[in-house]
Amino acid sequence: MRVTLLHFTPLEVCAHAIRTCWQSYDKSDKGGEIDRSLIERVGNHNRHSSTLEHLFYTFYIQEISRLLLQELARHRIASLSVKSTRYTLKELKDETPFDQFDSRAQKYLIPSGDETVDRMSVKALDNLRILLEKGISNDRVKYALPESYKTELTWSVNARSLQNFLTLRSKSSAHFEIRNLTSAVYEALPHDHKYLFSKCFAEK
Ligand SMILES: Cc1cc2nc3c(=O)[nH]c(=O)nc-3n(C[C@H](O)[C@H](O)[C@H](O)COP(=O)(O)OP(=O)(O)OC[C@H]3O[C@@H](n4cnc5c(N)ncnc54)[C@H](O)[C@@H]3O)c2cc1C
Repeated sequence: MRVTLLHFTPLEVCAHAIRTCWQSYDKSDKGGEIDRSLIERVGNHNRHSSTLEHLFYTFYIQEISRLLLQELARHRIASLSVKSTRYTLKELKDETPFDQFDSRAQKYLIPSGDETVDRMSVKALDNLRILLEKGISNDRVKYALPESYKTELTWSVNARSLQNFLTLRSKSSAHFEIRNLTSAVYEALPHDHKYLFSKCFAEK
């Protein structure tokens, strides 16, 4: 799994939004300690959470399974642009048969952590290759995709929704791949924004 932060809103924009309510712009220190504690107090502690919606983050998320993708897509307050199998399944067309979970198969599949499951994933992968070799269209072949098939997306989310995501999906009851994603997303955040999210990992 790889998570790259492509873009984010500076903290001073959120502080400006909060200060609009009281017209206290002159007290801003342009995203410094004063603004940081204002955001924490108003957005987190006082639960004026809509102010956190002014902070946007765009991540490029690679090397994840379609299993994880469908869980991530349940988080409706976010924007997703996902690699389309409709256009990209042809990447398998010129492959020779797959018979083991080797580096060639891992170009397309995410490991489950269980050898037997991974062997079955390889069979499913080879089935896709066979179907494409027969000239069947991508739109039909995709019905045979295993959940382990690798995908990637660009994901944009505001701070309020990101807090909800990190809280729900870092719990021990969440699937391990999406739990790993919560850590990777947190790690990719700008250092001076992390304090807004660290409490999301409190309950395990
Ligand atoms: C451990 C775990 C197991 C899960 N298992 C399953 C499962 O077996 N089956 C399954 O279907 N899902 C499952 N889910 C997904 C879960 O039900 C949610 O769909 C998912 O976590 C997204 O949460 P959310 O709705 O808070 O997020 P978002 O969709 O991003 O919404 C964010 C917040 O906006 C508000 N909101 C959004 N839409 C509405 C609305 N229409 N009306 C009112 N308020 C709204 C809510 O306050 C919500 O918390 C599981 C989630 C977790 C964490």
